[in-house]
Amino acid sequence: MSEVIVPLSALSWSTRAACQGEDPELFFPPGEDPEDLGWQDRALCAQTDPELFFPEPGHRTSGAKKVCARCEVRTECAEYALSNPDLTPSGVWGGLDERDRADIRRQQRSLEEAA
Ligand code: SF4
Repeated sequence: MSEVIVPLSALSWSTRAACQGEDPELFFPPGEDPEDLGWQDRALCAQTDPELFFPEPGHRTSGAKKVCARCEVRTECAEYALSNPDLTPSGVWGGLDERDRADIRRQQRSLEEAA
């Protein structure tokens, strides 16, 4: 596999991340290996405009979803977002926007209650 070169400008959003300066264990609890997030190294969004993935409320998410549709780690990304709603409250993850994730979680709860 070829190495992915990520321009620093594409990661400029990370300097505004609320997690900066916080205890890393908040985000990677003991027992969870941060290396398990290795799929993020192959994230196609790292090569595109981050504004696409975290649009202002009410703005379209179709551009980000088109990128996700071509991303090789879409499944891992979507599973991560669905499993970590507190860490992924906004944005498009794995081709799913906030509403999509809420719908899926609601369906999962309904299935669990019916079981
Ligand atoms: S699926 Fe979308 S949000 Fe997730 S890593 Fe790929 S491009 Fe980024």
